[in-house]
Amino acid sequence: MIKADRIWLDGKLVAFEDAKVHVLTHALHYGIGVFEGIRAYEQAGGGSAVFRLREHIQRLFDSARIMLMDLPFAPGDVERACVDVLKANGLKAGYIRPLAFFGTGSMGVGAPNPVQVLVAAWPWGAYLSEEGMAKGIRAKVSSIARLHIGGQMVRAKVSGQYVNSFLATREAALAGYDEAILLDADGYVAEGSGENVFIVKNGVLQTPPLSSPVLDGITRNAVLRLAADLGIPVKEEKFTRDTAYLADELFLTGTAAEVTPVRELDNRRIGKGEPGPVTKRISEAFFKAVGGEDPKHREWLTPY
Ligand SMILES: *Cc1c(COP(=O)(O)O)cnc(C)c1O
Repeated sequence: MIKADRIWLDGKLVAFEDAKVHVLTHALHYGIGVFEGIRAYEQAGGGSAVFRLREHIQRLFDSARIMLMDLPFAPGDVERACVDVLKANGLKAGYIRPLAFFGTGSMGVGAPNPVQVLVAAWPWGAYLSEEGMAKGIRAKVSSIARLHIGGQMVRAKVSGQYVNSFLATREAALAGYDEAILLDADGYVAEGSGENVFIVKNGVLQTPPLSSPVLDGITRNAVLRLAADLGIPVKEEKFTRDTAYLADELFLTGTAAEVTPVRELDNRRIGKGEPGPVTKRISEAFFKAVGGEDPKHREWLTPY
């Protein structure tokens, strides 16, 4: 079970046991919450830093705006809360989870109840296992289609939209796979349950464009910029599942998953069935950047 000493709730650091909400919290019933996943890393030169804190908090407020939710705090307050929570829990590295949601008041679906905000943090290692990071994971194309742009808000990180991710993840796990890859309503590859997806073919890196129903991932964006630094050609274009089967390399990106290689998709071995050279270069560049070893991207780090 996740345990933390202190959680930031509605402006105050409170003990873990006291970070409670009422059972009639609107978000518990209807899933109207917006959240973030952020990581903090120990730095090569000593100390710790949060990776791309400002961008994550900006996206939290963008998600809230999309959901017509007014947060009772300014972005700077939530940024400070993230750092305060890390410090209050003595975390040199860890995962940070801000969440804003409609609290109690009315039970009408569209009721704009008062908004509550929390920030929690805890240690979290490799999301898809250390072994998966080292050797690559086995993924399955899901029978569950990714969100439809006509009915869901693909630019927002919304709690309720994780029904879709949950169904895909459970289906994949029950069938013996490590992760699901979801197709869009037209059958093109969209993303993982909580990760963006990349393929490599003949040295070119490819990921679905932001006009697809995919989150504008902050790790996705970092990988695109690191690829440019490394001189790796990139295209943001849709591709089909069989294009993914024939890829030389396949990997997933996300704050939780970081850069996770995929060694097999729907029982087809990808490339040589192990993390490929481009994946390794990107992954090394990513871990250098988050660990403060890339002078080009110091602006991505908030030391604490
Ligand atoms: C959070 C998330 C990602 C990854 O985004 P990052 O900003 O890299 O953490 C990708 N897809 C979905 C659906 C997500 O919720």
